[in-house]
Amino acid sequence: MSPLDIIVANWKMNLTVQEGKALAKSLLEITSALKKTAVWIAPAFTAIPALSPLLEGSNIKLGAQNAHWEDKGAFTGEVSALMLREFGCTFSIIGHSERRHVFNESLELCAKRGAALLKKGMTVIFCIGETLEQKELGVTFEILEAQLNPLLGALDSDQVENLLIAYEPVWAIGTGKVASIEDIDSAHSWIDFHIRKMCGGRTLKILYGGSVTPENFQAVLQRPLVAGSLVGGASLIFEKMQKLIAISEGF
Ligand code: PEP
Repeated sequence: MSPLDIIVANWKMNLTVQEGKALAKSLLEITSALKKTAVWIAPAFTAIPALSPLLEGSNIKLGAQNAHWEDKGAFTGEVSALMLREFGCTFSIIGHSERRHVFNESLELCAKRGAALLKKGMTVIFCIGETLEQKELGVTFEILEAQLNPLLGALDSDQVENLLIAYEPVWAIGTGKVASIEDIDSAHSWIDFHIRKMCGGRTLKILYGGSVTPENFQAVLQRPLVAGSLVGGASLIFEKMQKLIAISEGF
């Protein structure tokens, strides 16, 4: 059986509990018999308790958009993997570009979150990507390496089993400018090569994220090293999710 394409819905700071429940219920209706697609949802923390019973036992995985490395303590504003697990969350996005660039989470801090979660058995979607300025300077691979190495250096090669990488060029997130096929191929090939080098020959799933829509998803998904997508804006609209899923299923 070929591996499933993963569509991760990153709802960011959008959707109230009621709106999230309504969207999740609609998605449940079209995801019970998928053959080629895995759908994961990362809602705002406030919607997690309400979505948890809805998604329990379904094909949709529930996760978070960020998580702390400790189980508890004096960390105002943070939520731990232990707390997320209470609601059936099995994964967390870590190092999203908005965390890195809007909230100034450092390379080390993102790596610390990611490594701790993996060691606790959570699945981690670790986001990496260059800014437009860095792309134009021709330093994309150096940036990707600087983002990946603190995480990979903190893990044994058997601890990366539940790690997925999301290549998300910052200039493509929420801008409507999807990366070109050449950009995606070159970044994903470099990431794949680097992971093999750092992780004893292992390969990891690499997702693409950045302005994915039903119009460009087919072309993105066809690339050999794209295992799925992290989707922001389009994931908030049921009809768009329905089309993304249909593309992955080959309908
Ligand atoms: C994201 O939030 O990770 C993302 C890729 O957003 P968008 O699809 O809106 O560009």
